[in-house]
Amino acid sequence: MTKRDYYEILGVDKGASRQDIKKSYRKLALKYHPDRNKAPDAEEKFKEISEAYGVLSDDEKKQQYDTFGHAGINQQYTQEDIFRGVNFEDLFREFGFGSGTGIFSDFFRGFGGFGYDRRRSGGPQRGADLRYDLEITLEDAAFGLERDLRIPHTKTCPRCNGSGAKPGTKPKSCPVCGGTGQKKNERRTPFGQFVSITTCDRCGGEGNIIETPCPGCNGAGYIQVTSKVHLKIPEGVDTGSRLRIAGKGEAGSRGGFSGDLYVVLHVKSHPIFKRYDNNIFCEVQLSFVQAALGDQIEVPTLVGKAKLQIPAGTQTHTIFRLKGEGIKNLRGRGKGDEHVRVIIKTPEKLNEKQKELLNEFAMATGENNLLKEGDRGIIGKVVSDVKDVFS
Ligand SMILES: [Zn+2]
Ligand SMILES: [Zn+2]
Repeated sequence: MTKRDYYEILGVDKGASRQDIKKSYRKLALKYHPDRNKAPDAEEKFKEISEAYGVLSDDEKKQQYDTFGHAGINQQYTQEDIFRGVNFEDLFREFGFGSGTGIFSDFFRGFGGFGYDRRRSGGPQRGADLRYDLEITLEDAAFGLERDLRIPHTKTCPRCNGSGAKPGTKPKSCPVCGGTGQKKNERRTPFGQFVSITTCDRCGGEGNIIETPCPGCNGAGYIQVTSKVHLKIPEGVDTGSRLRIAGKGEAGSRGGFSGDLYVVLHVKSHPIFKRYDNNIFCEVQLSFVQAALGDQIEVPTLVGKAKLQIPAGTQTHTIFRLKGEGIKNLRGRGKGDEHVRVIIKTPEKLNEKQKELLNEFAMATGENNLLKEGDRGIIGKVVSDVKDVFS
């Protein structure tokens, strides 16, 4: 099923203000709220408009959606994130729905809820998130890439649905703790009676025990699998960018959701370019003749090469900007630039002919006090181990 456009769902256009989006959501929420509308598809509609509002009312999610569409949202956020971003309870109170109606406890709990008894002991527990570190090149970061990863993780055992008990049997209440998962220890001392609570040894705090373990998972309730995850890295990512793949973390227990997989990106250092924000920087060398007379040179870019016009009389360390040759802005429009710094190289070895020509050049420019044989000068030493205060 193709997902409808969020703007279309809320009946607003792309340029709509935050206030317009809210107004439109209010109108639709009043119409489809399951407490008011008993039509069979009202709840589905309500869910749809609430999801659209969850995305479009949040600047970051909205930008992600505007740039990458539904795929971008699915890759970065779980449904839980989309709903958690909005305080619907307050919002509905503001809209005049009152609070504490069935909608909050039943409907939204499906998305992880808003803190409604999420971690009741013995209840469903969400699985742990997993982290996967991926090294990519600067070019990949600039232009994006798609890659398949193989991720080992646990999955709820399909044979026992996570109960750990052999299909057809059920876990039994623990005979030692009576299902509480806790053991009460009483100790009498001359100072009085002390009570401490510890985890039940027999059931490990679960409250129930499995008499006949499931043969599929040996009673663990989960199995080890390796999932193929198709990763779409958007243009413009940087070291530290995280991509979330919902549900590819560790299995939940007692019917809880699986955790998520986070792919954390690391951009390798580049032999030519340094990156700062979305701009890239490099240096090229010029001969002093090129700098003096001007030239057209080739400079490296992220996609290959570009021609750069060097004007006559260019000084060393001059920076040229190549507009738009940098990296695309991850969250929004526009691209960074490439900055090329030219370093003018003095020739180290000259033959007789070259020396003669340069002397002639010096004479022509009036520089006739060049060092001649027999002149006394202070001989400075070239050093490299002194702190450079010039740059
Ligand atoms: Zn099993
Ligand atoms: Zn027990």
